[in-house]
Amino acid sequence: MTVAGKPEAKITPLRPRRPCPECGQPSARETYPFCSTRCKNVDLNRWLSGAYVLPGREEEPSGPESDDG
Ligand SMILES: [Zn+2]
Repeated sequence: MTVAGKPEAKITPLRPRRPCPECGQPSARETYPFCSTRCKNVDLNRWLSGAYVLPGREEEPSGPESDDG
């Protein structure tokens, strides 16, 4: 086994740092992927406030096909 000196050590981080989706600041581990609890709540409130449209329920069928006649 020969280990040749690599020109560039390719280090792959387990979890690449991503900017906070809310404000763009570096995310924190505790509130990943957000930078703080505040930004985390902002995203959560967006869900609760109904910004995300819920899937509408399917239209009720006209009814069972009755053989009248
Ligand atoms: Zn943030």
